[in-house]
Amino acid sequence: MSLPVPAVAPGCQFASDNTAGYCPEAWAALEKANVGTVASYGDDRWTARACELIREVFEHDAEIFFAFNGTAANSLALAAMCQSYHSILCHEISHVETDECGAPEFFSNGTKLLLLQGERGKLGPDAVHRAVERRRDIHFPKPRVVSVTQATELSTVYTVADLAAVRDACSRHGLRLHMDGSRFANAVAALGVPPRSITWEVGVDVLCFGGTKNGMGMGEAIVFFNRDLAAEFAWRCKQAGQLASKMRYLAAPWVGLLENGVWLTNAVAANAAAARLEAGLAKISGVELIGKREANAVFARLDPALSSAARAKGWKFYDFIGAGGCRFMCSWATTDAEVEAFLADVRSCAALM
Ligand SMILES: *Cc1c(COP(=O)(O)O)cnc(C)c1O
Repeated sequence: MSLPVPAVAPGCQFASDNTAGYCPEAWAALEKANVGTVASYGDDRWTARACELIREVFEHDAEIFFAFNGTAANSLALAAMCQSYHSILCHEISHVETDECGAPEFFSNGTKLLLLQGERGKLGPDAVHRAVERRRDIHFPKPRVVSVTQATELSTVYTVADLAAVRDACSRHGLRLHMDGSRFANAVAALGVPPRSITWEVGVDVLCFGGTKNGMGMGEAIVFFNRDLAAEFAWRCKQAGQLASKMRYLAAPWVGLLENGVWLTNAVAANAAAARLEAGLAKISGVELIGKREANAVFARLDPALSSAARAKGWKFYDFIGAGGCRFMCSWATTDAEVEAFLADVRSCAALM
């Protein structure tokens, strides 16, 4: 008896950008670091080099730490920016709210997230003003930080002007600015601006710079442009179980990513794959694009029979993320052939409906 042959190789194609593996350059650096005995806990040349490269990318003498994942990076960074009686203003669909299982509140000993609304996954200055001005009394947790996601959960990006407007609102109310940059590289690729112009130059105090989705197996860098906030941060990481004893393995892939601009090449490739996917889907009946894609994910409403038919052919994508509809996420590893095979399958399914 023969089983039906699936139309595509098994895999997780468009489910997320964390389904991809290490990119070759990050993997090669990891292999190079796997030689001999090396000092532990970050006192090694790989860690020093990774920090140096991050400082070069941002053109800033930032203080840098490495964490295993984004939840830890965000939570610990936010905890360093707040007291427990403070609040953090963030978008209602931000990852810190919807996908971190309360870790920001837990690691900050109870700092409350206040949820704001905003078009296309972005916070604007008016929402910040309203949230701060609504209550200023002692009974309400005192706003202290604005957290923005770049690129956003809806695959949009904050422009330099968007961020300057948020920064002005922060300045007016004495708020600090945190950036969840799990897809920071995709935002830089989409905007075509130097990294400094969407971080410290527009008042970002701390950036959680994503390595995992950009081509590493794991690891995020916490980049303190405001060095005062980094005081004692090393202890916070250690207590939270985020100090790697064999730090070279967390640091070396960064060297592979950052040397020769691989991080940006990877992000450009992921965004381009999403652009190709978006253009293809736009032409298929039974598919309605949601919003305008700017980074590496496409959101679309598919006729339910059509999305079931595509899944039956072996394609993977989520439909519970962001603003509803289906999310098709591309990564550095997404190939044109994969995008074209998917589009061909959706087209042929749509033709039968
Ligand atoms: C993936 C992601 C993170 C990090 O998630 P972890 O699973 O904790 O590594 C953070 N923020 C956003 C917006 C993400 O998409």
